[in-house]
Amino acid sequence: MQSLKSHLCGEWVSGTGNALPLLNPSTEETIAEIASGGHDWKGALNYSREIGGRELRQLSFAQRGELLQNMAKVIHEGREELIALAIANGGNTRGDAKFDIDGASFTLAAYADIGASLGDTHIMVDGDSQQIGRTARFSAQHIRVPRAGVAVHINAFNFPAWGLAEKAAAALLAGMPVISKPATATALVSHRMIEMFLEKDILPKGALSFIAGSSGDLLSHLSGQDVLAFTGSSDTAQLLRAGDGVISRSVHINVEADSLNAAVLGPDVELGSETFGLFVRDVVRDMTQKTGQKCTAIRRVFVPDDRLSDVVEAVKEQLEGLVVGNPAVGRNVRMGPVATGNQYNDVRAGIEKLSAQTEEAYGGKGEIEALGADGKGFFIGPVLRVTKDPGNCEALHSDEVFGPVSTIGSFSGSADDAAKLVQMGQGGLVTSLYSDDRKYFADLVPQIAAYHGRLYLGSEKIAGQSPGPGTVMPTLLHGGPGRAGGGEELGGVRGMALYQQRTAIQGDKAILAAITGVK
Ligand code: NAP
Repeated sequence: MQSLKSHLCGEWVSGTGNALPLLNPSTEETIAEIASGGHDWKGALNYSREIGGRELRQLSFAQRGELLQNMAKVIHEGREELIALAIANGGNTRGDAKFDIDGASFTLAAYADIGASLGDTHIMVDGDSQQIGRTARFSAQHIRVPRAGVAVHINAFNFPAWGLAEKAAAALLAGMPVISKPATATALVSHRMIEMFLEKDILPKGALSFIAGSSGDLLSHLSGQDVLAFTGSSDTAQLLRAGDGVISRSVHINVEADSLNAAVLGPDVELGSETFGLFVRDVVRDMTQKTGQKCTAIRRVFVPDDRLSDVVEAVKEQLEGLVVGNPAVGRNVRMGPVATGNQYNDVRAGIEKLSAQTEEAYGGKGEIEALGADGKGFFIGPVLRVTKDPGNCEALHSDEVFGPVSTIGSFSGSADDAAKLVQMGQGGLVTSLYSDDRKYFADLVPQIAAYHGRLYLGSEKIAGQSPGPGTVMPTLLHGGPGRAGGGEELGGVRGMALYQQRTAIQGDKAILAAITGVK
């Protein structure tokens, strides 16, 4: 059986101690294992900071962009192999696996383009030069330079390819070396990606290291020049934020956590319209794609009282006939299992809690006879719940059920009442609004924008070209306030800021120009 190794200090190293099994969630067979004790974490951090940092800082933005382009190419070339691993270790359907893996290469390629547009320079200029003296000679300029430490990336189990790539793209382009740690349970895809990069020899020494399994006490050795970027549950985020080193040495930290993403149907949207169709497609896609294990998936659906039965019927119609099963048995399987036994137990517990406060609309409590499963595997069928009193449904606004589960709540339909319900999620990654009434958007958006990193406005005019609210674009902000962790990733050059120090330099304008290259 394959034992996954870490790649630290420029070489593959085996861990010691108890090995944790990596399972196929469709069959519960062990397909690999990871032992992660015995690593020299301090040495690994120093190697990345010194060797990787030096190598990357020597490159211009355009050269770092080329590096990202090569990474994108390698992932694309290894796509079929990675898809097979995602099916085996993540329970992904082929479509789910492509969403993750193509998302990784697409994001790297987008950052490669940003690198090319930043050009053959090493320092990023931030804003215009300002005159701060009696004459223009005494001027000031803000610049951004790479932090002199290492970026430690800790990722969630659901996107082993995209999670690694989207964080690495921004950090490497900014000029910081990365140590990337995927979630243990689904680490096979990320591990193989690192192997592929190394086989093609496309990375500078020390630029991208890899942790298989636990990160031990690595985080306690972080310094004020280092960055910790975390994606995962709020509970783990809380633990990491409170870490001794993080607090006492002001380690820069970014958190991407839970989110109870909402979708609101405007009162103007008629059954059978393009906008109604888009809304239903988006809700169903988010329930079923990646078996609902998407941080951006719609969990709370708010519809006007007089649309409730139409919406429930339309969603049920699309869920009926959906084949749930082992994705390895055939391409007609449209939804696989959840990724781990823990996930299975968490989702079942979440459904129980929701059930106590909502009515059943479809799928019971997720019991399902999965295709090609032989009674094994972590399968849960799609579950749709309803409530006519969403404002008093505590579970709906407090528990992220990270699986194929969604709840529809009916309400007055007014923009003010929609805003109140959306805000009850206490901060999210994305909320989607569906209407063809510009005034409805204009009333609602200002009331909920402060609670989100992104708002998706679905209407007839964009229905034919929208990938839905669940797709994260490299040039748009990803993150959200409050419950969502308070972080910001991606957004093009905005996502690089975490890995850069902004410094104001003041002095003779000609000297500033010699440093920045800006006349
Ligand atoms: P998790 O249990 O919090 O684990 C996330 C990562 O943290 C894993 O790599 C895990 O490693 C690591 N970890 C756990 N304890 C740690 C510790 N004490 N020190 C260092 N690392 C530690 O979350 P998950 O179950 O993988 O992911 C599901 C959650 O992620 C959901 O709540 C979802 O909403 C959220 N999520 C958010 C986003 C976003 O962008 N906002 C994206 C995807 C997922 P091990 O696996 O080795 O334990």
